[in-house]
Amino acid sequence: MTWFHRLLRIDLTRHQTSIEEIPIHVTEAFVGGKGLGTYYLYREIAPQVDPLGPENKVFLAPGALSGTLAPAASRYEALTKSPLTGIYLDSNAGGHFGPELKLTGHDLVILEGRSPTPVALVIRGDEVQFRDAASLWGRSVYETETTLRRDLGDPRFRIASIGPAGERLVKFACVSNDYSRQLGRGGLGAVLGSQRVKAIAALGTRTLPVADPDAFMAAVQAALQQIFQNPWVAGNRQHGTIGGIDDLHALGIVPVANFTRGVFAGMERIGAASFGALVEARLACANCPVACSKGTRWQAGTERDAIEGPEYETAALFGANCLVDDPQAIIHANLICNEAGMDTISAATLVGMVLGAADEGLISWSDLGLAPDAPRGEKVIALLR
Ligand code: SF4
Repeated sequence: MTWFHRLLRIDLTRHQTSIEEIPIHVTEAFVGGKGLGTYYLYREIAPQVDPLGPENKVFLAPGALSGTLAPAASRYEALTKSPLTGIYLDSNAGGHFGPELKLTGHDLVILEGRSPTPVALVIRGDEVQFRDAASLWGRSVYETETTLRRDLGDPRFRIASIGPAGERLVKFACVSNDYSRQLGRGGLGAVLGSQRVKAIAALGTRTLPVADPDAFMAAVQAALQQIFQNPWVAGNRQHGTIGGIDDLHALGIVPVANFTRGVFAGMERIGAASFGALVEARLACANCPVACSKGTRWQAGTERDAIEGPEYETAALFGANCLVDDPQAIIHANLICNEAGMDTISAATLVGMVLGAADEGLISWSDLGLAPDAPRGEKVIALLR
């Protein structure tokens, strides 16, 4: 395995940091990512802790192979006590932030306490800067990442940030990195918002020690061969996660109108082929040969209004579950969530529930400020806003 055996502890209350050694028996037993983060979470967070209180902590743990040439080892885990469920939360994201964080020389970063004012944490090796983020507070994820990277003056920085949803402690706020990759579920963005951490920028300064480079590269080659020979990978590269939506609909698994139906009449218009026709770019997380990610754009928007996705869950929930058959409305809803820093799954489920209540006459369209005959996609966008 590839470890630094070091954790970076960031005391947000005092704006201080410390480095601690991670014992070898801990890394060997808990490996990295989720295992390592969970080990420290259970030792450091008491059961009665308020998820949005100053005693909760966030544990950022890149995967054990993150930062090496191992294929698709791009992910990092974030662990905390969830404000949405009140229990253990681990969420993971791809992109490029995880490997960059690992290459700062830390297997784990622990955020604890609460900053007196909004901060952006800038981690360059062992050097951590607590940067005033008052001017970023209130800005969207896209604006935050672009502005912070420009202000840091080095395009190599990888950035994770929260949007206005996290600042307002929305319980399904997410953390976004590389613009469009999310630690989506469970409200991690609200926990960072409660800590007044607007963004984390990481720039690696180290290389990872590999015990036997020749054996490691042989294992990498073998893994690559297996990946390229796997027929599932070809389909995933071609369509991304949305590629399965038509088959899942045929099986009756796609949520339709809050799971009250098994079939959505507009499915063909939001199927894999429809979204495939809108793909403008094919993207990949760090060192990933699968490259499943698809770049699309809200066509009524500007150059900036591009997203990675929509992924299957987003398309199914803003689409079939909300009875929306317009791919552009789904991309627009995805974009709004990305900018605000909201989990698309929870947001779409909530919007679908409200639409369903109005459909059933439990609440009136006028109470929602919506015209009953407005296009379904417009209703979704209005409710999201
Ligand atoms: S590009 Fe797709 S398959 Fe590769 S790591 Fe990212 S999400 Fe996973």
